[in-house]
Amino acid sequence: MKQSTLFTKTRKDISAKEQSINAQLLERGGYVSKLMAGVFTYLPLGWRVLQKIEDIVRDSMNELGAQELLMPALQPKEPWQITGRWDDVDVLYKLKVGDRDFCLGPTHEEVITPLADQFITSYKDLPRAVYQIQTKFRNEARPKSGLLRGREFRMKDLYSFHTTKEDLDRYYDDVKAMYIRIFKRCGLGDITYFTYASGGSFSKYSHEFQTVTPYGEDTIFICTPCHVAINHEIIDEQSTCPECNSSELVEKKSIEVGNIFKLQTRFSEPFDLTYVDSNDKEHHVPMGCYGLGTSRLMGAIVEALHDDKGICWPLTVAPYTIHLLLLSQTAETKTQAQELYEQLQKKGYEVLFDDRDVRPGQKFADADLIGIPVRLVISDKTRELQRVEFKHRSDVDASLLPLDELDTYLMQQVFQQN
Ligand code: ATP
Ligand code: MG
Repeated sequence: MKQSTLFTKTRKDISAKEQSINAQLLERGGYVSKLMAGVFTYLPLGWRVLQKIEDIVRDSMNELGAQELLMPALQPKEPWQITGRWDDVDVLYKLKVGDRDFCLGPTHEEVITPLADQFITSYKDLPRAVYQIQTKFRNEARPKSGLLRGREFRMKDLYSFHTTKEDLDRYYDDVKAMYIRIFKRCGLGDITYFTYASGGSFSKYSHEFQTVTPYGEDTIFICTPCHVAINHEIIDEQSTCPECNSSELVEKKSIEVGNIFKLQTRFSEPFDLTYVDSNDKEHHVPMGCYGLGTSRLMGAIVEALHDDKGICWPLTVAPYTIHLLLLSQTAETKTQAQELYEQLQKKGYEVLFDDRDVRPGQKFADADLIGIPVRLVISDKTRELQRVEFKHRSDVDASLLPLDELDTYLMQQVFQQN
């Protein structure tokens, strides 16, 4: 992509009142634009990032044997009355059109459970797992944290259906392991904790995945040797690590990026979702639900991976992996940069090419703000030396590589590690 033709520009005019780091950097970088509190447009750069995150999540769900579908955001009132949540869920967006009541889905148990009832009748129809990656709506009281708390936001929600609690337990552990891998692939492995949370009336615990950052809205208590945490709800009931009983817990601010829950028969009972076993006996279907906020994850990555100049995307979710900066308007140098841009693209690299006619200082500042992991610079000086300047986004110093060694270097030193 030539930066001279990009739909967006970097911006300086973001109100300093924009409270969160992720909103500041993402709006200044041209990734998102705020329409109103908690509601954002994903601009071309931001949409690429979100799609990369969602592709990692989608691959992972498919690997778990779950099948993708897409449920409606617009929902009727009736199923929400059946579960008693029409009046209970305080963040529900309710609409009245004519004499009918609707809501915008904040989550989808009320749609998936009656849907599953159309197809599940026998133990032979189980287990099953389906998921969607979709826009959710919640009338959050204080949407002041950019992508971390939207009123309209993106979520992957997975639902699983089983014959027995044991089978649910087995699948739950598989999902847990997959979530750990997802956060690792998104660059947050070291700072994301499997966290014990309240299980409601149907299970002892549910579990959250909490990413430690200084401006997180949540508080967790970490057991360092176990690399697990407990959340504020659980600390009121017990003050020790559920895995090793240690009471040496470290308090940290964090962001809840995922939440997995054994629903058991909380929803299969009201919708009478049952199966018959091999002895013709009828049972309610034990269910699990597994949420992961993909847009919140994008915000969490920015909160965790940035410096005072801008974002530092991991290779796996960056909008482009190489930012090529042309620092000269000399014809020969321009041609060389253009050729390098084309060669890199032919080799399959995703390149943002800063071919704009602006000062070098502006290009470096924009590159730091946008935060693409690899920066290449072509100038009159590098052309004379038959070299290209190379720098990782978070390195201080650049190095000069011979042009004909660039591809090998990229393959062996940069992209191979992923
Ligand atoms: P929170 O406690 O932060 O309000 P929650 O427990 O209500 O979240 P869930 O219903 O478990 O959230 O939703 C699953 C996932 O969706 C969460 O783990 C989070 O990553 C994401 N999520 C929830 N609410 C929002 C929101 N308002 N904006 C962005 N992401 C959200
Ligand atoms: Mg939660």
